[in-house]
Amino acid sequence: MPSTAAREVPPLLLRDLAVEYRQREGVLRALTIDRLEIPPGTLCGISGPSGSGKTTLLHAAGGLLHPQAGEINWGEDDLARMGEAARDRWRRRMAGFVFQDFHLVPELTALDNVLLSVWFGSWSARRHTTRAAGLLREVGIPDPARRAGLLSRGEQQRVAIARALLHRPALILADEPTASLDAVTGAAVADLLVASARAVGATLLAVSHDAALLGRMDVVHRIDKGRLA
Ligand code: ADP
Ligand code: MG
Repeated sequence: MPSTAAREVPPLLLRDLAVEYRQREGVLRALTIDRLEIPPGTLCGISGPSGSGKTTLLHAAGGLLHPQAGEINWGEDDLARMGEAARDRWRRRMAGFVFQDFHLVPELTALDNVLLSVWFGSWSARRHTTRAAGLLREVGIPDPARRAGLLSRGEQQRVAIARALLHRPALILADEPTASLDAVTGAAVADLLVASARAVGATLLAVSHDAALLGRMDVVHRIDKGRLA
């Protein structure tokens, strides 16, 4: 399992958070959270009905959106007070994302998918290539030169997890990571996510309906109509 310690993991404290979307019918309040605290290294599940605001919460916590009000504190950093460029930098340094549909580039090799951020960023390619190949071995992808589009769905999600772990994130965010997998494959991916977070003490925020995955979390927060239930 990826065993190098994550950088220092800060606590998360959301306060008086409001996220709205402008829709054709008007402004929709998608999320209202008075207070939510998540200690460093917590495995935290987020569940709730479709459209209840789970993805919005994940994106707010991961610095992918700017809230209309409130604080998103990771330790000393309040993402709500950062401009977009600062949030991008924070995210690249701190967070790794895993999505339901993998978001891989099918024409690229498994290795190049893990290295995408390196090709687009200013990181050293040589150093990261060694780490990426090692991560792929650890998540159970024996041939890093295979095209991602030729891998099974479970293997593709493993590649996506390796990619999320590349920069040793203190924070792993996963949006329904097992939803498009069969039960056995989903369980293996859940094992891998949990073990990866535990091995480095990272905080894991996992949106899921999957009882097997939620059962592995330290705590599960339920959201309904944009509020903690
Ligand atoms: P969940 O992940 O729980 O299914 P979401 O956080 O995706 O819920 O969505 C919460 C609400 O916000 C839904 O009503 C959804 O339609 C709306 N919504 C989500 N993203 C956007 C967006 N980019 N623009 C407008 N409305 C959105
Ligand atoms: Mg969602």
